[in-house]
Amino acid sequence: MADIINACEEKILKIAADFPMLDYLTEWTNINSGSYNQAGLAVMAEKLKQAFSILPAKIEEVTHPSQAIISAEGVPLSPTTATHLHLTIRPEAPLQLLFTGHFDTVFGKDHPFNKVTRLDEETIGGPGVADMKGGLTVMLAALQAFENHPNKDKLGYEIVLNSDEEIGSSSSAPLLAQSAKGKIAAFTYEPSTLPDGTFASARPGSGNFSIVITGLAAHAGRNIDQGRNAIVAAADMALRLKSASQKGLTVNPAKIDGGGPNNIVPDNAVLRVNIRPSTPEKMQLAENLLKKTIADIAQDHSVTVKIYGHFGRPPKAISQKGKNLMALVESSCQNLGLTACWQETGGVCDGNNISAMDVPVIDTMGVRGGNIHSQKEFMIIKSLEERAQLSALILTRLLNMGGI
Ligand SMILES: [Zn+2]
Repeated sequence: MADIINACEEKILKIAADFPMLDYLTEWTNINSGSYNQAGLAVMAEKLKQAFSILPAKIEEVTHPSQAIISAEGVPLSPTTATHLHLTIRPEAPLQLLFTGHFDTVFGKDHPFNKVTRLDEETIGGPGVADMKGGLTVMLAALQAFENHPNKDKLGYEIVLNSDEEIGSSSSAPLLAQSAKGKIAAFTYEPSTLPDGTFASARPGSGNFSIVITGLAAHAGRNIDQGRNAIVAAADMALRLKSASQKGLTVNPAKIDGGGPNNIVPDNAVLRVNIRPSTPEKMQLAENLLKKTIADIAQDHSVTVKIYGHFGRPPKAISQKGKNLMALVESSCQNLGLTACWQETGGVCDGNNISAMDVPVIDTMGVRGGNIHSQKEFMIIKSLEERAQLSALILTRLLNMGGI
């Protein structure tokens, strides 16, 4: 592996650094694109199409339904749809990579945190500056720089820019899985785990479930024994699932909807649960646990139980190919004078879904920043250049290595 930067790489790095990333980032951040703001997402999609058209790409809009939401009454609501961008560059090239980033944010249309502000010499604040509009500018800067490589024809790639990552990527999951197929590696532009640039390594999986319990209504005074209390069954279910938490498998009963007036035995309840398994084995364990607990509760409380949801984010483990890719990131960081640290994190992202396709993925290729998902979100300006150069260097090296 190269341990110094050669002349060809140096030229690419300069082009990456010269890209007007801060201008793009400011413009994009000032457009509200909360996950449910369809109009704002459409404006962002248009801006991204224009910006990314500097790449020799075939650009498509892809619309998929989202996972159905279960109402407080336990009824599946008709699914909404979300639109994502899918770009294909040189599909005939022998080496194929995947790049992904999301353009939705957690800040809704009317949220007061809605503009870029300069915090000091080195940092800016704003909704999505780090998570992840900063990452999108880094990705574009690196790729347009790579397009100047004399041997670029040997390397092709797909880009997925999705609009529903902050709400679980249920609509974009099929597109991510499809685009990951046959790729030697993938890069996702979430911000670094810590402001010092620390990358995320392994991640647990995550599943969100709505468990709908139907009992039998009865008068709370006259014939309480004839009723079947759905709220009590849901509470019992929450306790049983919670007590099954163990190392590598966390269960968070988050909410119980249902019930009604004080004088009626409630006949409906919906228990919302988030479960995070650290490995595929723990995920299987969780699936068995759900099955058994549902059967037990149905029997013990004489209620019917229906479950909706699935593990939308499978656990992300690090394979040997993943370790090789991490080594390439480390050596590239060293050559650029950047530190490369790794940390396991409890959070999940699209990297989980890509990893489930057996494609090694580095999912924190974006900017350095912090306080994401809060009004104190910030981004360190010089990390735009650092991270754009890092991606560009990794690309040229993957090209030279012919794989990992
Ligand atoms: Zn993000």
